[in-house]
Amino acid sequence: MIEISHVNKWYTPTFQVLTDCTTSVTKGEVVVVCGPSGSGKSTLIKCVNALEPFQEGDISVDGTKVNDPKTNLPKLRSRVGMVFQHFELFPHLKIIDNLCLAQQKVLGRSSDTAVAKGMQLLDRVGLKEQAQKFPAQLSGGQQQRVAIARALAMDPIVMLFDEPTSALDPEMVSEVLDVMVDLAREGMTMMVVTHEMGFARKVANRVIFMDRGEIVEDAAKEDFFGKPRSDRAQKFLSKIL
Ligand code: ADP
Ligand code: MG
Repeated sequence: MIEISHVNKWYTPTFQVLTDCTTSVTKGEVVVVCGPSGSGKSTLIKCVNALEPFQEGDISVDGTKVNDPKTNLPKLRSRVGMVFQHFELFPHLKIIDNLCLAQQKVLGRSSDTAVAKGMQLLDRVGLKEQAQKFPAQLSGGQQQRVAIARALAMDPIVMLFDEPTSALDPEMVSEVLDVMVDLAREGMTMMVVTHEMGFARKVANRVIFMDRGEIVEDAAKEDFFGKPRSDRAQKFLSKIL
């Protein structure tokens, strides 16, 4: 579903942020990406839906090359759900309207269809009663669940998460992770940047460890937690576990 092949990216001519990154995510697989701050995790995940360009290598999603100038990027992005650290809801729109906007504007759904789909998804993340509120009236955990529902409203073929719980108060982390665990168990293809190793243990198929722009480790969950091969991954794990 996601194919990342020998990707090199420079932010400036002298600063290479990604070095020869190669990995793939098959349909229904959950891959957790971890690694120290500044190691290139966000950059890599943004390259997947072409929010960041890269100079060398190839990335394709469901067979469509994201770095091909002929690719219809808005169409591709509409099928790739993305959830960020800071929710990024539209503050001036009610929750239900946050869920309907792209369904109508990008997918051309009628208002009735979009609202029905939006309400169904709000129900699924436990927030049906909040539909008429504005984002600022919700807690961080609730806002992040809305952001997940909004991404799902587009019927994505893959979901990308970039540290979805790291801006939340500790007591709100589990309500967001629970939604993500359900999604994983339902078979969604997911690439998740997170340091929540409990989540990784529960649902990840593979764990990727990045350091200084390189994929240092790409292993089955059991192998990663059993004993990471590299010193760098071992050090990292010993700090966060
Ligand atoms: P991570 O998500 O693992 O913390 P990032 O992908 O955000 O890492 O960043 C990797 C490196 O690239 C960091 O050194 C960061 O400062 C740098 N960086 C990130 N975004 C930009 C940018 N837009 N321009 C220049 N440097 C950037
Ligand atoms: Mg990051």
